[in-house]
Formats: sequence, structure tokens, C-alpha cells
Amino acid sequence: MKPNYCPKCSGKVKKIEKYVFECVLCKRKEYINPKPTNAIIIENNKGEILFAKRKENPKKGFLDLTGGFINPNETMEQSMMREFQEETGGKLTELKYFGSYPGNYFFQNENLYVVVACFIGKLKNKKLMAKDDVEELFFVKKSDIKFDKIAFEPLKYFLKDYLKNKK
Ligand SMILES: [Zn+2]
Repeated sequence: MKPNYCPKCSGKVKKIEKYVFECVLCKRKEYINPKPTNAIIIENNKGEILFAKRKENPKKGFLDLTGGFINPNETMEQSMMREFQEETGGKLTELKYFGSYPGNYFFQNENLYVVVACFIGKLKNKKLMAKDDVEELFFVKKSDIKFDKIAFEPLKYFLKDYLKNKK
């Protein structure tokens, strides 16, 4: 995302550093930072991985892991639990941090920088129902994962690292 006008005084903004813009009138600085998001890998007892088919754009119809954006005043863990419940109706018994992956999210004709906090989880209840921005939920055999159908680059890296560690 590249700001064009100052939200405070509507003055023109100019780039002063790689990720810093400044208003030419009031000197307000705009720092470009990624938005935190999260995603989770969950396996069933057959060792298959849970995927969510996206109901909405961006990347409608592509495969996603459950997860989403963080709300104000939430921890990464709380937001992961909330997103998972909103999208599947399910609950998690275990949540383990795996690592983070930066990426881009194209929305409303803008590129948002994101950084995805990635978790590994265990399911409490087996019964899941696609809700919210999820069209369908299903488990996929590790060898059948189609990486070209995965919605976002950071998730591909997350899945590949996860599968590598599993071997
Ligand atoms: Zn200004």
C-alpha cells in the first residue's frame, strides 16, 4: 500500500525512506508495516491436513488454511482460537507456535503487507462445519496437496516447512 494523501490534512505525501512516507504540509509520517494474521495446520487421525476453500475474494475458490486477521487487543493465540471457531465451529485443545511467514494480500485493489503467525493445532471436537468466509472444509492427504491451488504464498512455505519437519 502506498499512501497518496495525508489522512490528517489531505496534503501530498512523499516517500522519505523505503517504508516511510511524510506529508509535505504537516510533516505527519506514515510507516508502512505489515498486518499480523494467522493460520493453522491441523491433522486428523489419518494424518491428513485440514483445508478451507475460500468463499470470498481475494482468491475465491482457492485453498486456505483456517485463520485470519487479528482483532485489536487480541493475542495471536486468542485470535487463532477465535478465527478457527468462527470458520469451523470447532475447538482446539492444543495450539503450538510454528513460525512466521511474510507475504502480500491483494484486497480492494491494494496490496497489503501481511505477516502470518503459523500454528499447529489439535482438534477437540471432530465435527466441523464451514462457516464465515469458508465455502467448504475438508482433509487432504499430505501427498495429494496441490500447491498451485493454495491461495497465499506464505501458506505454501508454511506447509512445505511443516511437511519437511515431518519426514
Ligand atoms: Zn498532513
